[in-house]
Amino acid sequence: MNWNEVLYERCRTGENVLTSESGPEQLIEKVVELEQRVDKLVLANLALWEILKGRMNLTEDLLLSKIREIDLRDGKLDGKIAREVLHCPMCGRVMSTKHAQCLYCGHEKLDTTIYYNLA
Ligand SMILES: [Zn+2]
Repeated sequence: MNWNEVLYERCRTGENVLTSESGPEQLIEKVVELEQRVDKLVLANLALWEILKGRMNLTEDLLLSKIREIDLRDGKLDGKIAREVLHCPMCGRVMSTKHAQCLYCGHEKLDTTIYYNLA
């Protein structure tokens, strides 16, 4: 099972999804879990950046410039990544990022990039 299939299955089964019936304890647990995941991602990104910076002579200015460029792809400098719209190569309709296949014609969605699927 690849990463997309894992995410699809989690959404389909409702795993890790809060509902309107979730209580305060469940919300706090979810926030704590999300904070831990964010901390791990920050740590992994920092490690990757330090490895790349040292091995490829990259600079903080170059990194900041790239962050700004990506941020501005949707025309807004807001610190957020705009989700790209993916069109089905078979029927041309908009494909959901939450489903592994086109809802209209059933064409299986191919992974574009890791980051696309996380956004
Ligand atoms: Zn389609």
